[in-house]
Amino acid sequence: MISSPPHTPVQNILLLSCMDLRLLDETVAFMDRIGMTNRYDHVILAGASLGASYDGLPHWGQTFWDHVDIARELHDIREIYILEHSQCGAYRKLLGLVFGEHDETEALAHAEVASRLKSQIRDRHPDLGVRAFLMDLSGGVTELAI
Ligand SMILES: [Zn+2]
Repeated sequence: MISSPPHTPVQNILLLSCMDLRLLDETVAFMDRIGMTNRYDHVILAGASLGASYDGLPHWGQTFWDHVDIARELHDIREIYILEHSQCGAYRKLLGLVFGEHDETEALAHAEVASRLKSQIRDRHPDLGVRAFLMDLSGGVTELAI
């Protein structure tokens, strides 16, 4: 678990997270912990990076891209943080992936999907930074290598 990333952004960012009701307070607590209180636009899609990039739900992806555009225009965001979480129902429902507790393949699956979205972001917005994190159900957060 990390209490803060290696650096706290000095600019506004956009946070993409899952809708999961179990982690709403933990998500805000994480952003506060890394010094981003009231400095991020928040886009919520079930599955986070999966929701934004899943081929079977292109309108979700369009919603994500539209919000990136308006966040840039209104708040000059410079980075996108992707916040995945463990035991995500969207990964189960959309991909049929079920992970056990302390399952090492879970982080790999999230990193793979987040990495795919990062590539798409870089294609459309090469000047935006992208980082990805995985939150456990206790609110602990690790950064994913993407
Ligand atoms: Zn989820």
